Amino acid sequence: MSSEQTFTGKDIFNCCFKTSTTDSNKHICNSCATAVKCDIGKNGYSNLKTHLNINHGNDWKDWLKVFKSGGKGPMDKYFICTSDKAKNIYDWIEWIVDDNLPFSFCEKKSTRDKTKLKKISKNTLKKYMSLLVEEVKAIIKSQLPPSFGLIIDGWSVNSDHYSGIFAVFFDKKQQEVIEFMLSCNVAEDFDEDTEFDPDLPESLKKFGFTAADWFDVIVDVLQIFGIEVDVDNFKTIIEFISGDNCSTNRKLANDAGRIIFNSFSTLSLILLQIQKFLLLVVAITNFI
Ligand SMILES: [Zn+2]
Repeated sequence: MSSEQTFTGKDIFNCCFKTSTTDSNKHICNSCATAVKCDIGKNGYSNLKTHLNINHGNDWKDWLKVFKSGGKGPMDKYFICTSDKAKNIYDWIEWIVDDNLPFSFCEKKSTRDKTKLKKISKNTLKKYMSLLVEEVKAIIKSQLPPSFGLIIDGWSVNSDHYSGIFAVFFDKKQQEVIEFMLSCNVAEDFDEDTEFDPDLPESLKKFGFTAADWFDVIVDVLQIFGIEVDVDNFKTIIEFISGDNCSTNRKLANDAGRIIFNSFSTLSLILLQIQKFLLLVVAITNFI
């Protein structure tokens, strides 16, 4: 009996593929990141097996042997090699993001002349960046606990208004604080085309990070991660918020159901008190 015959379609799927977060009939190959179309419920796993046979020779059978043996085997079998295509795309994304370059940078003649990376169009680059964002969102979503804290901040550069939101929680298994950036958004100033709620007072028809603005931003961002929050359940999901504007914090904390709210300045004061206490303990210990 050949080793291939001992593997079920489900084994092949569990070992070598991950279903796309946006399309349940597309499955991403763990090795080359190709999205393989396959309606498993209707047609079984044959398309997935065909993809492996065509693109990965006999390698995938070694991956499955390790997978089926619960991870026992030579170390080189643990690692699924990245395809040249995936590595090329990754390198382009890393370059553009890390150096904050325009997408069109990858199409410039001088860039293409000087780089060793294979050609890529800005549309292809954007497509894979969007897919990567979905993957990262899915990872964050799978790791967020039922409740967590938020660190928020807002700032303006001319007419652009930025807002950043981080989720923070303590991972008991790893015994460390985990921080995920959930959002870094930019919003334009209001203009004559902006539509307001008819009941909104004139004084509030301007851009600003008010408590209500923050509440809306937080609700929208959490929705992206599949977390539905509203005034009623806010405090059961959000354990605390840390921001830098005391009056906004107080109002948002009250509106959101009296959650704990730390401003950066409050945190600094607390840390100062802890430092003073520790100095006092050291002084007393020395005296004794
Ligand atoms: Zn593949």
